[in-house]
Amino acid sequence: MTADLIVYNISKLYTPYHKPPVKKEKLREIIMIKDAFIAVKDEMIIAVGSDHYEMYIDSDTSLYNAQGKVCFPGFIDAHTHLVFGGSREHEFADKLEGIPYIEILKKGGGILSSVEMTRNATFEELYEKSLKSLDQMLRFGSTTIEAKSGYGLNLETEIKQLEVAKELNQFHPVDILSTYMGAHAIPIDYKDNHEGYVDQVIEDLKVIKEKELATAVDVFCEDHVFDVNLSRKLLNKAKKLGFDVKLHADEIVSLGGTALAVELEAKSADHLMAASLKDLQELGNSNVIGNLLPSTAFYLNKNYANARMMIDLGVGVAISSDYNPGSTPSENIQFAMQLGALKMKMTPNELLHSVTVNAAYALGLEKKLGILDVGYQGDFLLLDIPNIEYFFYHYGINHVKDVFKKGRLVVKNERVIGRK
Ligand SMILES: [Zn+2]
Repeated sequence: MTADLIVYNISKLYTPYHKPPVKKEKLREIIMIKDAFIAVKDEMIIAVGSDHYEMYIDSDTSLYNAQGKVCFPGFIDAHTHLVFGGSREHEFADKLEGIPYIEILKKGGGILSSVEMTRNATFEELYEKSLKSLDQMLRFGSTTIEAKSGYGLNLETEIKQLEVAKELNQFHPVDILSTYMGAHAIPIDYKDNHEGYVDQVIEDLKVIKEKELATAVDVFCEDHVFDVNLSRKLLNKAKKLGFDVKLHADEIVSLGGTALAVELEAKSADHLMAASLKDLQELGNSNVIGNLLPSTAFYLNKNYANARMMIDLGVGVAISSDYNPGSTPSENIQFAMQLGALKMKMTPNELLHSVTVNAAYALGLEKKLGILDVGYQGDFLLLDIPNIEYFFYHYGINHVKDVFKKGRLVVKNERVIGRK
């Protein structure tokens, strides 16, 4: 079989090869091919190897010289809040002065101000703003992302957010999987009636399903927001309607969201900074991905999730950006990975798994994404680094130069060039 595209002269190609969820010592095992090439046909990889690619060439094949760059699979960011109105830099000074979040909320700031700005934004405004963020994500190497709603807290605005993501998915090289997160916070009009709000979200689920605006449902399972019972009620209903489920679990206090994720066979339990040992043991014995979001701990100056212990317990770990207007206003998944190394003591090979195969598994995309091998989609990155260790050592900059999505060049020298 001959290829549509061959990328050659890759100094080192790194890829996981174990099927996810990848756990424990297998997280350290990846393949490295020197002087590598990748051949793609009809969006899929037809060969990966060393040196000899002549047999895949015909007169229609395009050849791309990687000029000695390193190749990784495209990154998968399995937890983002891509679409929201406005920004919150006006709270930044208060935050730096150490004014508690609850005080900022009382002044009309915090998440409810993002809700207000999202409700007031037009579709076009949200679209243009999210497009910029999506371009940033792609430049940093994220070729597939998850995007949550949750800044509307009413059906009309939640739909607007999800429709923006749907439109972007059609037009932009990055593939977007949408998650409905009406249960992100309690809107003011329900502040004394959490259950009433959950019942409303359950009603709205049917509309989201009918309009095919999301494939998963998420809930902020936390003290003073959605407790374990309300979260269970909502996610059970979501499962019955055919949604995948996932949770923001045990971020601030140890409430039991992680155990609930295991009970419901969720796709992932996310954050986990405060998860109890017992709950993490259960997570380790399950196939639920533990999705860690170290940029959030960094930005909020909090303790990092205990990744080393989780890996020892058998948790299939992923790492995502958690891009959002309050606790992580950064699209840079590379920085999240570098924090994984510097602050959570994960190794480079473990971290590559965390943004590829295990993240793909958290989104149900493991059959086509996360590994560079025959039969997988042609999503890969060319990086200006000498080896994988250097990626973590030289932190805070963008190492990704070129990005290929479905075998098509979509970022060249850090510039987005390809639209669908
Ligand atoms: Zn989040």
